[in-house]
Amino acid sequence: MEQLIDKFGRKINYIRISVTDRCNFRCIYCMPKNGVDWKPMENLLTYEDMAFFLKVAARLGIEKVKLTGGEPLVRKHLDNLISMIKEIDGIKEVSLTTNGTMLPIYAKRLKNAGLDRITVSLDTLSKEKFKKITRMGELDDVLKGIEAIDDVGFKKTKINTVVMKTINDSEITDLIDFAHSRRYDIRFIELMPTDLIPDWQKYFISIKQIKDIIKKRFDIEKTDKKTNGPSVYYKLESGYVGFITPLSKAFCAACNRIRLSSEGEIIACLGHNLKVDVKNAIKNRNEETTEKLIKYSVEIKPKEHAMLNESIHSSMSAIGG
Ligand code: SAM
Ligand code: SF4
Repeated sequence: MEQLIDKFGRKINYIRISVTDRCNFRCIYCMPKNGVDWKPMENLLTYEDMAFFLKVAARLGIEKVKLTGGEPLVRKHLDNLISMIKEIDGIKEVSLTTNGTMLPIYAKRLKNAGLDRITVSLDTLSKEKFKKITRMGELDDVLKGIEAIDDVGFKKTKINTVVMKTINDSEITDLIDFAHSRRYDIRFIELMPTDLIPDWQKYFISIKQIKDIIKKRFDIEKTDKKTNGPSVYYKLESGYVGFITPLSKAFCAACNRIRLSSEGEIIACLGHNLKVDVKNAIKNRNEETTEKLIKYSVEIKPKEHAMLNESIHSSMSAIGG
């Protein structure tokens, strides 16, 4: 089997696939208040298209797949896609990132289809703040979703929390307690600048500051625990806490991923507007061209993001975070 390696020596074995740009929330850091014009369904890759693409990618060394969105569970029959992916030789893990609201309906089907793990995005345990951050979500729906994950027996669940100064930074330790009481890892993510939050610096709180807050209550010890991404893990008595520092250069040095958008573009870096259109090759089931385009996207993968000096993706929901 071949292995994708970029020109900076990084092994690319992980892909995030955005299955839809649609979402039932409008999180303040991710989507405009009035939403976006959804891409017409007929422009999206079908699940068969995605599975074809992955078959080719797996031959090039892609082993782990994350399904994301928008909200991936608003696209119907996601379990069908998962079943297809699980049959692809070389794919070792399929996981899902979700806002959690639709898990009471779908958790069992996802488990039966072979989904390996779920990450739930949860920024607050306050109903009022939850509404403020998501603009239209209900915290209770996510909590019910989390119950459903445990009920059907998923393991290694994670919580992802974007921390924002004056909005949810007072809840960091409460969120740790919540996650660890369920034996989940929790990962704190620095806010990434997008066009949606021109005053992002007002809300930005660094991982160093987050760690200082945690240290006031917990003893923390750095570990070499590794998961799929560039998060750095610390051990607390009650469980693990991960830190994701998108703005730091170390984050880029550990990058092992490419992304596929719901419309069939390979995105080599979250922090650059570089896209490689692979849709026609996929639709024509042209393995050779698909392979060439995957290799090309890895070839042009930049060393570092340009989040601070390039106006990047105005909506994270279109590319899956
Ligand atoms: N809807 C799903 C969810 O919320 O988990 C999947 C898609 S969402 C775009 C994926 C992740 O991106 C979420 O954890 C979200 O918090 C994160 N995200 C979106 N915009 C962000 C930003 N500006 N800064 C940091 N993280 C962001
Ligand atoms: Fe939707 Fe996830 Fe973006 Fe929130 S972060 S608007 S839930 S896609």
